[in-house]
Amino acid sequence: MSKQIVILGAGYGGVLAALNVRKYFSQSEAKVTVVNQYPTHQIITELHRLAAGNVSEQAIALPLEKLFKGKDIDLKIAKVESFSVDNKEVKLSDNTTLTYDALVVALGSQTAYFGIPGLEENSMVLKSADDANKIFNHINEKIRKYAETKDEADAAILIGGGGLTGVELVGEIADEMPKLAKKYGINPEDVKLMLVEAGPKILPVLPDELIERAQTSLEARGVKFLTGLPVTKVNGNVIELKDGQKIKANTFVWTGGVQGNPLIGESGLEVNRGRATVNEYLQSTSHKDVFVAGDSAVFFGPNDRPYPPTAQIAWQMGELIGYNLYAYLENKAFESFKFVNSGTLASLGRKDAVAIIGGNSTPLKGLPASLMKEASNVRYLSHIKGLFSLAY
Ligand code: NAD
Repeated sequence: MSKQIVILGAGYGGVLAALNVRKYFSQSEAKVTVVNQYPTHQIITELHRLAAGNVSEQAIALPLEKLFKGKDIDLKIAKVESFSVDNKEVKLSDNTTLTYDALVVALGSQTAYFGIPGLEENSMVLKSADDANKIFNHINEKIRKYAETKDEADAAILIGGGGLTGVELVGEIADEMPKLAKKYGINPEDVKLMLVEAGPKILPVLPDELIERAQTSLEARGVKFLTGLPVTKVNGNVIELKDGQKIKANTFVWTGGVQGNPLIGESGLEVNRGRATVNEYLQSTSHKDVFVAGDSAVFFGPNDRPYPPTAQIAWQMGELIGYNLYAYLENKAFESFKFVNSGTLASLGRKDAVAIIGGNSTPLKGLPASLMKEASNVRYLSHIKGLFSLAY
């Protein structure tokens, strides 16, 4: 009888699991259903560009129908309301319930607010194409308003969190600001573009030399860094920092961290800080018929520290799960997950970037790093046969 495989989420992990499992199972051997809340596969490593308005939505949000064409994958556009791994049931927002022989959980992560009062209600986030469009429209509107009101808060843009998301976003905004200022006839120097980081430095995953390069490059384009200063409270448009200073900004984007999707903690899967624990085959440690990919899983590296939740690890996990689903359902030998780290690439706007590349972390900066970032995107798109998005 045909096996039922259900994949929750069509981010990097879910899409790669779906595409890869089809290499091992024909349509008559297994039915593959992918559930996703949006009809697109979103290249979230490029969202900062959409938020700043220098790329079109079609370039980074690829229609799933197109990606799955001819692959015999059933696509369900709905939100997962809940799932129970003990009952082997998935409840969707369209009131349907799915059952499965094997389940893949690839539901990504959510923004973490760390219980900071007023933060969630008074900030925007950058987790989806919709979020990115919202940020873009919001900044446009505030700059347009500033031209009329000269209210300094309208020209104040604050990014909370100096990890890769915050820094890449601030770099794109810095690059686009001169054009936007011109559009509304304001002096670009009136715009206060700031980034606040709790830790002593931005981009702590990179070596000091590259951190300095990033900071200098962005400061030269008008970004002001406030480091060693956690956001402690937000009240309307007033953002309070640990030293007591209050920043009034009508644009505040929070990129201060991510946490597991709460559905995972509620599903009955064994979890570690909200992310599902998995064995070397990426199988849940508590439920053998469930595989977990990407930010939804926690996978411990050689030094017993969890790998950070990145696109490249999600991609590799999804691909391995594609095979291990087959191994599980057909009683074949499993393959173990071995993460191949190709490095970390941080864009600093359109013309600058910093990166560490390969297993020996070779540092790169400037044009070579920018080109690597582009190449990494093209490589991924080519892998999923999504190069059509580059036409936009
Ligand atoms: P992150 O957790 O890596 O960074 C969040 C930053 O916010 C940290 O530096 C933290 O110190 C700071 N912060 C936390 N609380 C704060 C507070 N109260 N006030 C001010 N600052 C505060 O989150 P991220 O940047 O969204 O990245 C999430 C994951 O995605 C990471 O694993 C990252 O490597 C990955 N990522 C990778 C890329 C890339 O490879 N180019 C891009 C984006 C994200």
